[in-house]
Amino acid sequence: MSADQEMSYGEDYGFIPATSVRSGEGVEVAEDLYCHSVQIVNIAFIGKPDQDEYVLVDAGMPHSANAIIEAAEGRFGAGKRPSAILLTHGHFDHVGAIIELIEHWQIPVYAHKLELPYLTGVKSYPEPDPGVEGGMVAKLSGFFPNEPIDLGQHVQPLPDDGTVPFLPDFRWIATPGHTDGHVSFYRESDGALIAGDAFVTVRQEYLYKVITQQFEISGPPRYFTPDWTLAKASVERLAALRPQFAITGHGRPTAGEELAAGLQRLANEFDIAAKPDYGKYVEA
Ligand SMILES: [Zn+2]
Ligand SMILES: [Zn+2]
Repeated sequence: MSADQEMSYGEDYGFIPATSVRSGEGVEVAEDLYCHSVQIVNIAFIGKPDQDEYVLVDAGMPHSANAIIEAAEGRFGAGKRPSAILLTHGHFDHVGAIIELIEHWQIPVYAHKLELPYLTGVKSYPEPDPGVEGGMVAKLSGFFPNEPIDLGQHVQPLPDDGTVPFLPDFRWIATPGHTDGHVSFYRESDGALIAGDAFVTVRQEYLYKVITQQFEISGPPRYFTPDWTLAKASVERLAALRPQFAITGHGRPTAGEELAAGLQRLANEFDIAAKPDYGKYVEA
């Protein structure tokens, strides 16, 4: 594909020296669901290791392509490539290695149509807010890339009818707020949820909590969330599904009563627990 030449990262793209105790680890959440940590962020593989088809959800941190390919081949076998990359959203820590992965695997990428401007070089994400209520990661977030990457014609919109390419049992669910076109992926038959950053299981604003991966079902990362009304509605939508287990964009997977209770509490107490008291995206 000659379209490869079109692809580029934003000007502010670069290695982010942040990591956690879970970096490089993988957890099998179900027979066909695997969560792998890249520094501070998670990717997911959907598909059974002994079957031919699988997909990758999200694409890790900048400069992590080799680690992701190694993890994929470790689970599915040498030379086995995913059928597609599905994106929950296009923040730098979820698309950090995507161009190298597309070039290596020659596979399509799918994202919500409202996310496409941020993936085709059209629009920058709102600037991260270092002044938002939170700890050291929030203060450092001004260094996080927010310029759009450009995947050209390698990225396509998810189908309007809610179906997910290559995953007939899954539906995508619009969970905007953290970004315009943020989606989660849900399988009703067993209650499997891949939530991206709609909610996470480590509070992302606090460096110590990120490094040690201190567990807490939490709202979306504050410094990067511009619409708290939509973000709250998205958490309520996910809680109403009563998922049985969840892989989130940050923090370890969660399941059962821990997930049910934590997600319901987050929905109920969203304005106090998740929404920051101050910040440039919070209305006074
Ligand atoms: Zn994000
Ligand atoms: Zn994230």
